[in-house]
Amino acid sequence: MPLETVTIPCLADNYAFLVHNTDSGETALVDAPESGPILNALNDLGWSLDTVLLTHHHWDHIDGLTAILEAQKARVIGAKADAHRLPPLDVAVSDGDHLSVCGEDMTVMDVSGHTVGHVAFHFPTTGLLFTADSLMALGCGRLFEGTPAQMWQSLSRLAALPDDTIVYSGHEYTETNARFAMTVDPDNPALQARVAEIAATRKAGRQTIPSQLGEEKATNPFLRAADPGIRAQLGMETATDIEVFTEIRHRKDAF
Ligand code: ZN
Ligand code: FE
Repeated sequence: MPLETVTIPCLADNYAFLVHNTDSGETALVDAPESGPILNALNDLGWSLDTVLLTHHHWDHIDGLTAILEAQKARVIGAKADAHRLPPLDVAVSDGDHLSVCGEDMTVMDVSGHTVGHVAFHFPTTGLLFTADSLMALGCGRLFEGTPAQMWQSLSRLAALPDDTIVYSGHEYTETNARFAMTVDPDNPALQARVAEIAATRKAGRQTIPSQLGEEKATNPFLRAADPGIRAQLGMETATDIEVFTEIRHRKDAF
């Protein structure tokens, strides 16, 4: 596999990611929370940027960009729908667009919900998926702009990708997400095992990101609105999936 990834912790709990083609030397950055750690990582690795991919307009995903572009020249790619509130874009993209990034096919997916205009970046050949604040490890982003129905639709489209897809989400929120997940899906053995694994990972000071999509489908309550165990736990056996998802999201907001 010629694509390599590097996870860069930024700010209090954000992640930025580098994607690097070891054959061609091309490098892409996904999100720019702050410039220092990203420029240091590029320097240590001896890589220079070709492309920056922006998932959404929140400050903790774009604030480092100006300083990064002063040090490195790169084309900036982000959602056309968000062009008015993102830094200047070289390429404005929409759902279903294909581009070559790091020498590989990359597909843009609209995953509105956390914000309207949030996009995810999928590299189908290598199975990399950059979801930022849409699908997260054992969670999903808070609904600042979109409706529950919109987020459910976005998550359902992501969940339809192959199980071995590697999910790179934007924050280290996994331990809190795990505590919440146990309140709505306590009898799920796959979740119980993952919660124990996450506690050990964090205790060792390691990152829980990325995760595998198949693992998310088995344990992330926000993908499991159809699950009979969760429905029974919530007393929502006859509700629609969107109603169950909405209830889980409301409970998480108050958790
Ligand atoms: Zn955000
Ligand atoms: Fe964020």
